[in-house]
Amino acid sequence: MKELHIDGAWTEPVHPAELDVLNPYDASVLRAVAVAGPQDVDLAVDAARRAFEGPWRSTPATARGGLLRRIADLLVRDREEIARLESLDTGKTLEEGRIDVDDVTAVFRYYADMAGKDHGRMVDAGSPDVVSRVVHEPVGVCALIAPWNYPLLQMSWKVAPALAAGNTVVMKPSELTPLTTIALTELIQEAGAPDGVVNLLLGPGTVGAAMVEHPGVDLISFTGGLATGEKIMAGAARGVRRVALELGGKNPNVVFDDADFSAAVDNALAAAFFHSGQVCSAGARLVVQDTVHDRFVAELARRADRIRLGNGLAEGTEVGPLVSAAHREKVEAFIRTTLDEGATLVTGGNRPDDPELAHGFYLRPTVLGDCDRTMTAVREEVFGPVVTVERFHTEDEAVAIANDTDYGLAGAVWTGDASRAQRVAGRLRHGTVWINDYHPYLPQAEWGGFGRSGVGRELGEHGLAEYQETKHIYQNLAPAPTGWFRG
Ligand code: NAD
Repeated sequence: MKELHIDGAWTEPVHPAELDVLNPYDASVLRAVAVAGPQDVDLAVDAARRAFEGPWRSTPATARGGLLRRIADLLVRDREEIARLESLDTGKTLEEGRIDVDDVTAVFRYYADMAGKDHGRMVDAGSPDVVSRVVHEPVGVCALIAPWNYPLLQMSWKVAPALAAGNTVVMKPSELTPLTTIALTELIQEAGAPDGVVNLLLGPGTVGAAMVEHPGVDLISFTGGLATGEKIMAGAARGVRRVALELGGKNPNVVFDDADFSAAVDNALAAAFFHSGQVCSAGARLVVQDTVHDRFVAELARRADRIRLGNGLAEGTEVGPLVSAAHREKVEAFIRTTLDEGATLVTGGNRPDDPELAHGFYLRPTVLGDCDRTMTAVREEVFGPVVTVERFHTEDEAVAIANDTDYGLAGAVWTGDASRAQRVAGRLRHGTVWINDYHPYLPQAEWGGFGRSGVGRELGEHGLAEYQETKHIYQNLAPAPTGWFRG
């Protein structure tokens, strides 16, 4: 099974092994894919090293930008096919798959435009006899490890800036959803990436761990869960390698009573249940002002009940299944625990009774009321279609609740008062804050978290800087003895 991509060629693992990739809609096997072993990790890292030391490093940045632009064009060409593959693999709707491909295309174009525009900067050294400048250079071989919820998107946020900066990469998608990363690798090859610049390994966390351990890796960029992120950070410490971590979130969606009611309810629904809540920035903690709380929760529950679950590929489906049976069980356990702790079940909490969905990993959109900050589902990332509702009275209380989390990825504030909006946004300790909106992000704006949501930023200028070393070059135009040592 030739699905690893090493040194410009599709290859089988040294010790053939494979695992099944399931369709979360009905648990059927989509296809078996190859699983890499330790020797494949060695081969991929060695290939990336050779490519880095070879001509790639000195390829003009504009040429690297050209490669990214061709990848973007191929994504446009294959948009429908890749969106369909993403939908099959993750369970998300076809329309979400299309949005992902469009977003990814925009990210490749953004970094294509940025490549070649970084001229470094001149520094005033205080002497006419000195030329001093600061330049940026690639870091080297980058290990890129991605999760299952946005497989194509999360990998693209890494590979596009990594290549723009002149690095070489070894990618590993999640074992649950590798299909669009295989497709992306095909497009990168078709776009003309030199051999060894982009390598692909497949397999479970052990493959990722071997990549992290490998002394030939200079930088590790990881998106995934907190526990894995901690292991990766510890692994990166050996050899003092660069590390960038995009981890989980427990994101507050704060609604004041002067907000546009129907817009706030509608967006709270999208914040919590889009992609079955399997979104790192999901608005899973709804924090509502007491004066509007009851009406808000009633309307939210009424609309949550009407969400159409179904096959992601079917017309009219609004939300698909969870990614796996094991993940659904984990989410169900969170619901049970939080109900035992005193939350009330406003709606959902069970599997749908539609016989068409009986084999898939579906769970009904769930609203847990009367929650407080001590409860498990309020504190820990559930990563499923579950929203907890807390109430507040004053603005200070809202901010305190919203900031009382170990994470700090994203949050939103809904209010009709522009001054309050800015005041509260300024006080929230989260990497992205939306005002009267939820979920949009821009390739030009940094994405990442405070606290345990991670280290570093993706997207924007900082997203490129993650993959660059900074060098100061100081030239004396009038060399002379220092006169310090007299002997
Ligand atoms: P995960 O941590 O289980 O796995 C992520 C990736 O790491 C997979 O490719 C996996 O095979 C690999 N991996 C597992 N153990 C490893 C190890 N010891 N060493 C190296 N690699 C290892 O996460 P997941 O369940 O795939 O994804 C869900 C998580 O991702 C959630 O916590 C979510 O919040 C987070 N996420 C964060 C962002 C963000 O931008 N901050 C975006 C998407 C997802």
